[in-house]
Amino acid sequence: MKKDDCIFCKIANGEVPSKTLFEDEDFRVILDLGPAAKGHALILPKEHAKDIYELSQETASKVFVLAKKMAARMVEKLHCDGFNVVQNNGEIAGQTVAHFHIHLIPRYQDDGQAIHWIPGTPSQEELEAVRKLIVE
Ligand code: AMP
Ligand code: ZN
Repeated sequence: MKKDDCIFCKIANGEVPSKTLFEDEDFRVILDLGPAAKGHALILPKEHAKDIYELSQETASKVFVLAKKMAARMVEKLHCDGFNVVQNNGEIAGQTVAHFHIHLIPRYQDDGQAIHWIPGTPSQEELEAVRKLIVE
């Protein structure tokens, strides 16, 4: 299902033009208009889902297969030095467009970008407490 006021629904379904790298019945892969580096692309499912929690099992089962295929092609064609696959959910996590998407970001030695976090220093007890919280 498409969502009427969603820009990525419109792009994914071809109602708004984009620099398309790939399309099939489930997805469109486009160049990001504000790229972190040359070739930064977005995988957009054609079916609207706000985020990973809303994503259908079927789409979820296909999307990383496509990410792998696109990454291989982009590395071959762009001769980049590395590659980030990024997916944000929620404003605090950096999501600015409320339609699930995966960032494919080619990385170059001198691109000046940094996708990083500050590592914490939890104790064994703290790690065990969070492990239990998740698995129990
Ligand atoms: P996120 O912050 O994970 O929600 O990523 C949204 C991404 O979409 C950003 O990298 C934007 O540069 C990109 N973006 C927003 N609008 C468009 C658009 N109309 N076409 C292509 N990329 C877009
Ligand atoms: Zn949408």
